Amino acid sequence: MTLDHTHDPAARSWLAAANAAGCDFPIQNLPFAVLRRRGSGEAFRGAVAIGDQALDLATLAGAKLLTGAAGEALTLAAQPTLNAFMAAGPDAWRTLRHALFALLREGAAQEAAVRSGLLPLAEVEYTLPARVGDYTDFYTSLDHAVNCMRIMRPDADAPANFRWLPQAYHGRVSTLGVSGQRFHRPRGQWLPPGASAPVFAPCAAMDYECELALWIGPGNAAGQPIPIARAQEQLFGISLLNDWSARDIQVWEMAPLGPFHAKNFATTVSPWIVTAEALAPFRLAWTRPEGDPQPLAYLDSPANRAQGAIDIRLEVWLETEQARQQGRGPARLSGTSFRHQYWSAAQMITHHAAGGCGLQPGDLLGSGTISGPGPGEAGALIELARGGQQPVDVGGGEQRGFLADGDTVILRGWCEKPGATRIGFGECRGTVLPAVDA
Ligand code: MN
Repeated sequence: MTLDHTHDPAARSWLAAANAAGCDFPIQNLPFAVLRRRGSGEAFRGAVAIGDQALDLATLAGAKLLTGAAGEALTLAAQPTLNAFMAAGPDAWRTLRHALFALLREGAAQEAAVRSGLLPLAEVEYTLPARVGDYTDFYTSLDHAVNCMRIMRPDADAPANFRWLPQAYHGRVSTLGVSGQRFHRPRGQWLPPGASAPVFAPCAAMDYECELALWIGPGNAAGQPIPIARAQEQLFGISLLNDWSARDIQVWEMAPLGPFHAKNFATTVSPWIVTAEALAPFRLAWTRPEGDPQPLAYLDSPANRAQGAIDIRLEVWLETEQARQQGRGPARLSGTSFRHQYWSAAQMITHHAAGGCGLQPGDLLGSGTISGPGPGEAGALIELARGGQQPVDVGGGEQRGFLADGDTVILRGWCEKPGATRIGFGECRGTVLPAVDA
């Protein structure tokens, strides 16, 4: 990943809100979503965020300001899903990024025409940014894996295969939702403490998982691997993802095939996909601790070693029903960075395709829960509250061992470092509703 003028921290937009300190969407970001005016019944279409506005790409395409390859890429990105744009690959992505940057930059001659395509972010509603064919959830944070194992046994370690391959299971697409998703607490089989037979009842150990969503670009034909040297070309961008988890159901049902009811009732993603291009300044060396197995050859490359990690800061916030009623606002539960993840995005993509599996444009890979090494860096409540045994303070005298009905979990993400402009992911928000009557 190389940097160019679109990453220049000195660049400013003619839209003042985009230049404000702490803004998620400066001109260096330019993330993509699919949206329409809230409550309008209009067709959904692609958009790019700038400051406190969304640039409606269908309106922009109609203005015919872009021609040639940029115009073609704009036509794809303006559609009701981003799949065709994702399929077009890195050259098309970069061409459109550069063209949009030129239109939005301070002093752009086309300002008036572009301005007519702006919609206030406060007045839009979103849908999933792509038609997702397949969703896979990884399990690639060593800190998360070890924390979870040690709730049961203090000296436990991650499973033997964890340090050799990015573990994953196939997830469910029909219950994927965009930020704002509200879902009913699931029912399932679980074993009450001390019982010898399970019950079928509403989950009593509801949890979230703070993850990132990796959105796949062109993909690969079944049977054709994605060499790790080419994996970066397959990563269109990244958004936030909450992999809601019913822990009691999960513990009972997962041996030997993995989670089923525990995970398939809801998964929430944030609407804005921050492109791999925008994330380039925040890449870091990917390292493997001394004494740990080094990756097998198909999961190792000089580029992955040099810049496979990405410093994406993440926070989890919780707003309870009571906090909402009292106007208290959400409480911060934890914060960490994706830089600590044991396996990189490129390694996940390459490993996924390595066995013969085809990936398609718009496929979604969950990174796995992102937990960091320190206290307060855990990406799931089960870790923070030690399996419910040590409930955490969520403000106003309230505590949580697991989530209660009415709880809203908010994920936030951003990248920042000296010499680069801060870019943000916006929010991923979801609410647990009471279980439906049986
Ligand atoms: Mn997960």
